[in-house]
Amino acid sequence: MDTILVVNAGSSSVKFQVFSVEGEGNLYRRIKGQIDGIGSRPRLRANGPNGEPMADRAYPIEAVADVPAAMSVAGAWLREELNINPVAVGHRVVHGGPDYANPVLIDHGVVGRLERYISLAPLHQPHNLAPIKTILNNFPALPQVACFDTAFHRDHNALADHYAIPYQLHAEGIRRYGFHGLSYEYIAKRLPQVAPDVAGGRVIVAHLGSGASMGAIKNGKSVESTMGFTALDGLAMGTRVGQLDPGVVLYLIAEKGMSISKVQDFLYRDCGLKGLSGVSNDMRELESSEDPRAAFAIEYFVYRVGLHAGMLAAALQGLDAFVFTAGIGENSASIRARIGERLAWLGVVLDPGENAGHASRISRFDSRVPVYVIPTDEELMIAQHTLSLLVNPKTHDQKHERVS
Ligand code: AMP
Repeated sequence: MDTILVVNAGSSSVKFQVFSVEGEGNLYRRIKGQIDGIGSRPRLRANGPNGEPMADRAYPIEAVADVPAAMSVAGAWLREELNINPVAVGHRVVHGGPDYANPVLIDHGVVGRLERYISLAPLHQPHNLAPIKTILNNFPALPQVACFDTAFHRDHNALADHYAIPYQLHAEGIRRYGFHGLSYEYIAKRLPQVAPDVAGGRVIVAHLGSGASMGAIKNGKSVESTMGFTALDGLAMGTRVGQLDPGVVLYLIAEKGMSISKVQDFLYRDCGLKGLSGVSNDMRELESSEDPRAAFAIEYFVYRVGLHAGMLAAALQGLDAFVFTAGIGENSASIRARIGERLAWLGVVLDPGENAGHASRISRFDSRVPVYVIPTDEELMIAQHTLSLLVNPKTHDQKHERVS
């Protein structure tokens, strides 16, 4: 049985999934696993396709001290205990910089180019690249594919792509990239099945998870995103600040004496829902908390989703459908209901029963703008890209340099 391994590596965890390839290129999820607690309390956990447990093991800290070691442990488990030898590996890579508008087959040259973007995503890119390099060294013949969070947004027009800074800085790569692209691409692919009447229209997708952003999609293509140069911009997130006047950063440095790395840590880890509430970065905990600051953080989140919906509707010059996805968007009927009220002026009326039941279409029959809940599947998107590059390496293996 041919299999594809999908890897999503972060600073302290490596998530992986195994898909089997069957028939005419159909993909079936076989294993969903992760090693977390890397460098602290490493643990391998994995489940089968119906959630049945396949592994749950702790390791001594020295055995899984970093991401490459975690990749080796997961790889050995798959090969030696399950006899799984993937025909290719697909990786989630946060940043494809200005160059990559499509997934790409990886070689040493590609790794070199992707290393140039470490400064654009210092908290993610090095960890995404670590398992790629480990596999490239240990299994040089195994095809690997990089799938980028930025790629789906690379066709934004120049107005959406620029900051009002001198052109030279834009040329250097200071642009509004947008992220969560694999999620938006998956939703854009699902829409014709879920909502054929509006799939070719103007759609706002709200990817509301611990990382959160919203995207404007027109006729299946991304035209605008709430995220920009980094995944810090836009909505307030679990711990990330979201939209912030750059003057605040200057103030933190000049008046509060914060170093650059302190400011970075602060903006990525101490703000957002966690900073606002002082209670938690987790929406479930905020929803069950009695603390008024938790209630305020939720209200703020809902308010900002509404504000950004207005911005994206302006980018789209109208609105034909609205989609909720990711952890909060897929699971919290109460947050969806509150956002729905904020979108009433755009023509949204939710059906309380359908919303509470997490139906696929949660708007009332007479809502001018239909609203959907579509569970995202970034890993399946990566597996599909990996398979299609494996079958037809030429179609996707192209650099895409924008001139704007
Ligand atoms: P993600 O990053 O997509 O896994 O989403 C994680 C976020 O979704 C966290 O803030 C969770 O608290 C939130 N979440 C997951 N399930 C629920 C739920 N049933 N109600 C509210 N929030 C949820």
